[in-house]
Amino acid sequence: MAGATLALAVDTLTGGRAKIAIVEAAEPDDNHPGYDARCIAIAYGSCQILKEFGLWSTLASNASPIQHIHISDRGHFGQTAFSASHQGLPYLGNVIELTDAGQFFHQALSSRPAISVFCPSSVSSIERSIDSVSITLCDGRKLSSKLMVAADGAVSACCDMVGLSRHQHDFNQVAIIANVSTELPHQGEAFERFTPYGPVALLPMTRGRSSLVWCVPPDKLEETMALSDRAFLSCLQSAFGWRLGKLTEVGQRHSYPLILRQAEQIISHRFAVVGNAAQALHPIAGQGFNLGLRDVATLADEIATRLNNDQDCGDMTVLQGYRKRRETDRDKTVMITSGLVKGFSNHSGLLALVRNLGLNAMTAFPALKSPLLKQTMGLVKR
Ligand SMILES: Cc1cc2nc3c(=O)[nH]c(=O)nc-3n(C[C@H](O)[C@H](O)[C@H](O)COP(=O)(O)OP(=O)(O)OC[C@H]3O[C@@H](n4cnc5c(N)ncnc54)[C@H](O)[C@@H]3O)c2cc1C
Repeated sequence: MAGATLALAVDTLTGGRAKIAIVEAAEPDDNHPGYDARCIAIAYGSCQILKEFGLWSTLASNASPIQHIHISDRGHFGQTAFSASHQGLPYLGNVIELTDAGQFFHQALSSRPAISVFCPSSVSSIERSIDSVSITLCDGRKLSSKLMVAADGAVSACCDMVGLSRHQHDFNQVAIIANVSTELPHQGEAFERFTPYGPVALLPMTRGRSSLVWCVPPDKLEETMALSDRAFLSCLQSAFGWRLGKLTEVGQRHSYPLILRQAEQIISHRFAVVGNAAQALHPIAGQGFNLGLRDVATLADEIATRLNNDQDCGDMTVLQGYRKRRETDRDKTVMITSGLVKGFSNHSGLLALVRNLGLNAMTAFPALKSPLLKQTMGLVKR
């Protein structure tokens, strides 16, 4: 999704003057690793970015708006809530289904004459000279360009090929996702509930269902996945509580190991990195694609400015501009998401007291919510 969005954004910002090649390993069918059963929350600020590139209206037709967010700490007194109307906004974000997004991006890419898609294919080697980058595909075909962008996900083979290393931190949690039906309507409310084992999130989605992300320790994964639907719903009910009444049905379950991966550098000679290839986060605050989209928007802006002035779009001025503009936001978002995982998956009584006082203080003094809300809603300077 990050790579497709970048190609479409550059195409739009340059009025189709940039020649762009996309190399994609997987065909756009049901088993695509990027466009799978996940639902993701697109923050308000991200919807505005997608609007700027003319990409939001089609995605919006299948999206479910988030009007309220409720945050609580299971077994403790702390809770807080956010509401779009209090912020004077039409919504705090929207939930989209990645299978819908896959179809949309596939059609959008094939409708742009300046974009060529090489799929299924992959990069087998990268060679760089002073003023260009040459890429050999797995079938021997060669592409030459001023700039190559790696958007090939958390374990980026392209970054490995140019020697860009990454930090890694295992959160010791696995996310189980599934669609859940509930007795009470969600009414556009998203829930984040912290438990000592990991967070449980329910996002509002189409047909009255909620999309579950339930983070559990790896040693609980096998038994949790093997539970009957009834037993699974009963365990989930006790972790999540009764804010949506009885949990009545659950769809197919899928799981994802949760590891923070962050590229040490997001640029190299004639090479830039975006999306999960730059940083893959814990899904705790639904920030992964939102942060990746801000990478994409900034890089698209740097590239288009150069191309629209008939200048080299892959030289160090472009790359340094991109790196500098992304530094603060990347560091801050990684720090917030990792801090939430550590702070809320901790059994220490003192820490529980501090975080619960924090949640309640945000309810009592709404001004305290503002910095966190701005960051998580993607209202961030780029
Ligand atoms: C459980 C869960 C919940 C999440 N919830 C949210 C949320 O609510 N909000 C949010 O913003 N984010 C969320 N995220 C994160 C979000 O899903 C990702 O950030 C986003 O999908 C990543 O997109 P990407 O395009 O950067 O990477 P990917 O989706 O990994 O795409 C990489 C692409 O590169 C291709 N590829 C890989 N290797 C090669 C190769 N060698 N050659 C050619 N092509 C290759 C792949 O086929 C794929 O198409 C969540 C993640 C998880 C796991």
